[in-house]
Amino acid sequence: MAYDPQNVFARILRNELPSERLYEDAETVAFMDIMPQAEGHSLVIPREAAETLFDLSPQSAAACIRTTQRVAHAVRRAFDLPGLLIAQVNGAAAGQTVPHVHFHIIPRRPGQALIMHAAVKADPAQLRAHAERIRHFLVK
Ligand code: 5GP
Repeated sequence: MAYDPQNVFARILRNELPSERLYEDAETVAFMDIMPQAEGHSLVIPREAAETLFDLSPQSAAACIRTTQRVAHAVRRAFDLPGLLIAQVNGAAAGQTVPHVHFHIIPRRPGQALIMHAAVKADPAQLRAHAERIRHFLVK
């Protein structure tokens, strides 16, 4: 299927839609998930226009993993986490809802169930506060 340049992440990349950005470099951007499955749920996306992992160049895939590791370190420290889930889904059949490849960074704690996927919008002030906490550990 052809890449849809109007998908929400493409629009976030072009700054046509707001996002709580955490990190960016020449190849990737990281920001807060607007409907977090746990406090601190973050996303990493490539600037490259690619719908799934299979459409992504090896160079961009490597950049995504580098940024995912970098942001995951910061999320783990910001929330003092015992566990952290990295997820990446491809195709509607797997549950992909935004057709621009992305990596989920999802905090996990024992006994704490995940909030339903892409279901409940977070309070913007809380999202901002969580982003600030993560950014604090990204600059160190
Ligand atoms: P997928 O279902 O494709 O694996 O994940 C898409 C993710 O994007 C979901 O977790 C959903 O909450 C998040 N999301 C959807 N729309 C927006 C948006 O406009 N802004 C942000 N920051 N996240 C979004």
